Amino acid sequence: MSRNIALPSGFPDPAGLSGSYIAGKWQVAADPQIIEVHNPADAAERVGRVAFADVRLAEAAVEAARAAWPQWRAVPLQDRKHRLAALLRRIEAEKESFARLITLENGKTLREAAAEVDASLAEARFQMDFVAEHLVKKQGGYETRHEPLGVVLLITPWNFPLATVLRKMIPALAAGNTVVLKPSELTPLTAVALFHLMDASGLPPGVANLVLGEGPVVGKALVQHLDVRAISFTGSTVTGLQLARLLDARGVRFQAEMGGANTLVVLADADLEATADAAVSAGFACCGQWCTGTGRVIVEQEKYAEFLPKLLTRLKKMVIGDGRDARVNMGPLISAQQRNKIEQAVQRALAEGARLLCGGRRPADPALQKGYFYEPTLLADVTAEMEAAQEEIFGPVLVAMPARDPDEALALANGTRYGLAFSVYTRDAEKAGKFLREVEAGLCHVNLPTGFRDPALPLLGWKDSGRGWPEAGKYGLEFFTRTKAVYGEPATCSKPERSQ
Ligand code: ADP
Repeated sequence: MSRNIALPSGFPDPAGLSGSYIAGKWQVAADPQIIEVHNPADAAERVGRVAFADVRLAEAAVEAARAAWPQWRAVPLQDRKHRLAALLRRIEAEKESFARLITLENGKTLREAAAEVDASLAEARFQMDFVAEHLVKKQGGYETRHEPLGVVLLITPWNFPLATVLRKMIPALAAGNTVVLKPSELTPLTAVALFHLMDASGLPPGVANLVLGEGPVVGKALVQHLDVRAISFTGSTVTGLQLARLLDARGVRFQAEMGGANTLVVLADADLEATADAAVSAGFACCGQWCTGTGRVIVEQEKYAEFLPKLLTRLKKMVIGDGRDARVNMGPLISAQQRNKIEQAVQRALAEGARLLCGGRRPADPALQKGYFYEPTLLADVTAEMEAAQEEIFGPVLVAMPARDPDEALALANGTRYGLAFSVYTRDAEKAGKFLREVEAGLCHVNLPTGFRDPALPLLGWKDSGRGWPEAGKYGLEFFTRTKAVYGEPATCSKPERSQ
């Protein structure tokens, strides 16, 4: 099939039809389900069309990856690195187009999308260099080698359609694995654009394969394929736990980064202005659809009444709309279905006794009726037993809870089934230290927003926010390889002497 998302100019192409990329060719199933991708800010605007793969194509992708593996793993490391570096340079050269495409299919603002592209490239470069540096470690006369696993499956979500893909794909390929990517059915076009660049950068056929389609159909078939050696998943807790149960029994290496009702604790001595900025930036970025964003703000009672108006002032100033408009600082939700879910969650919170301080409805502006917009929402006086305190809402809704003292704030912070990101704002080093020791979360911050990350550090949610191995940092290499301890050098074989 033709290059329906033409690069460098003209992408995306609303009239084109994108298929899956398997064994170096764009492929469409015999009787494909055709899906239109619409702009969540204007459901009448078509961004592209894709043909979902069927189970047969999904299997063909794994077979192509398996067939390509012996050759790819034999490519010298520096050569693999060189090719991946060339791919990253191509992405860099197209970064404005990528940002625009992410905004069009996901709805986040252009500023947020550009930040995603920059962060993706920075993390990809970190991973590429880290793998190249640590793949073989000389220790005395011996070596620890990290050997690739074979075919690895990457399953990614719609909220960061480029970042989640590159975070997994670059270390997997750099280490010598071949990959099959199954991106979210809601944001397939970013992956299609990426694979066009991959195609142009001349990776051997079958090294990287793309399968478009629905999770329960092609995702399921890929997960069940016996030639898949490892699966890296980012998505909802429901799906992640379901896959974990299935894969535990089969002993397939698995990592899952899942949901989190992330907490930001505000102690009475905190800089309230800076804290309110952090709560709003991490709470409403990407319209609240961010795994490490802030969902719950737990405020020490003494400053509760003073802190809430600071949040309110900021929320009232937010401009919602089409992310391509530079004045806009919050785009729409990803879909009508997601908006319905959030509306229902807010209704249940109000029925349980939460107090609505702002939002809680769709905007009245006639210009916003064609998109999945929802006003920035602040729910106050939420208590531990309410669903809004316990469950991830994954939308532009911040839940505020008072706490008598730091101990109660800690208990509330730990009182959910999630444990992804956490932050405490305080000027007291001792109190901060206690939170860092006792909080049950994989990413913990002091005076930094919950979403803050450095690519060198691991990413793993605790409790129902994660399963299996961490990702990112050194785990890019660890997850996608197995170690081989090597004693003795092949070169010594030609010598006639024998040791006892
Ligand atoms: P969300 O609800 O945020 O879309 P999901 O967990 O449903 O999150 O989706 C994350 C990724 O997992 C997507 O690529 C989706 O297609 C995929 N997925 C969903 N269900 C399954 C499944 N049963 N098997 C494999 N992949 C799945």
